[in-house]
Amino acid sequence: MKCDTLVIGAGVFGLSIARAIRRLGREVVVVDAAGPGAGASATPLGVLAPHSPDRWNEKKQAQFEALTSLADVVVGLEAETSIDIGYRRCGRLIPLIREHHVALWQARAVDAASNWRGVAALSVVTPSEDWLPRDAAPFGAALCGLSARIDARAYVAALARSVERIEAGYRLAALEDGAAVFDNGERIRARHIVLANGAGAFEHLPDLDDETPAGRGEKGQAAILRLAPGQAVSDLPLIYRDRLYIVPRGETHVAVGATSEREYGDPDMTDTQLDSLIDKAEAICPALEGAEVIERWARLRPRAADKRLLVGPHPTHAGVTVATGGFKTGLAMAHKVAETVARLPITSGS
Ligand SMILES: Cc1cc2nc3c(=O)[nH]c(=O)nc-3n(C[C@H](O)[C@H](O)[C@H](O)COP(=O)(O)OP(=O)(O)OC[C@H]3O[C@@H](n4cnc5c(N)ncnc54)[C@H](O)[C@@H]3O)c2cc1C
Repeated sequence: MKCDTLVIGAGVFGLSIARAIRRLGREVVVVDAAGPGAGASATPLGVLAPHSPDRWNEKKQAQFEALTSLADVVVGLEAETSIDIGYRRCGRLIPLIREHHVALWQARAVDAASNWRGVAALSVVTPSEDWLPRDAAPFGAALCGLSARIDARAYVAALARSVERIEAGYRLAALEDGAAVFDNGERIRARHIVLANGAGAFEHLPDLDDETPAGRGEKGQAAILRLAPGQAVSDLPLIYRDRLYIVPRGETHVAVGATSEREYGDPDMTDTQLDSLIDKAEAICPALEGAEVIERWARLRPRAADKRLLVGPHPTHAGVTVATGGFKTGLAMAHKVAETVARLPITSGS
């Protein structure tokens, strides 16, 4: 096979890139080992949360721009595909456990007022007892008005619908200059190849100068719970405490997660670490009493060695662009990564 642009990986990165390149009028083929959303992009959580607004830097500015521009991307994609992507600027509650946290977050509220430029506010609030009671938030909670949620699976489905050609059953075995070889025996030549296969991309990147890998997969586990009859959560802010997210999904469902595991066996299996997270969520949030776990889920997050996005020319293969490293914030960043990749000049490899 031969094509103009070949995107390897049908997660939120690969699909966003394919959409952006197609919009420039170029022919794009997306291939994936399994199919759209088979990797981390199908996370049940779908949290879109900013870094804290203090000690502002380039990385925080880039994330702010991504978060604030995503709503428009969603509107365009929903109009194009008729898929409801479930984007809501719902806010995020961060319980204040110690008294000095109040002053800390009040100071951050001042930073938010200047760095978030009036787009959203940060404040210290007393949350509703039904959602985040006083024993879980003894000094109230910080309410981050910039945080949002998205239905990640619907986002992937909409992106996939907007991309004309996606082929499953193509597991990348080796990269060449201007070509990719797959486990199914196919060799695809392309003027431009985009390596966007999430955690799998690191297998196709050389080690760094200090002989450590360019990145790795970090496992995360999450669950979806159906609330007991009579409970509803649709307009509530998500809760974040000690790396635990509790995220409303529609009226009657809540997602809980996620673990962060460097050492793991099967990357797609869940275990007792997820049970502990669910127990912790139930202890914090009375609305989860009697909820039923309806899905347990695990995948690998793509984590670059320096935890940053890894976007740019492949270090050893001409005509290949790398786009990975979304780690814990890939859903918010994918459309910006796509804009960057679509603009990059290509050193043709074929
Ligand atoms: C438990 C958990 C919770 C998360 N929660 C959030 C959240 O709330 N908010 C957020 O922003 N981010 C979250 N993330 C991170 C986010 O999911 C990732 O940053 C993002 O999905 C990465 O997208 P991607 O397209 O790079 O990778 P992926 O979605 O993993 O896509 C990679 C694709 O490449 C394919 N592939 C892999 N290897 C090969 C190969 N050799 N050949 C061909 N195809 C291949 C896979 O099948 C897959 O479809 C979470 C991740 C996890 C695991």
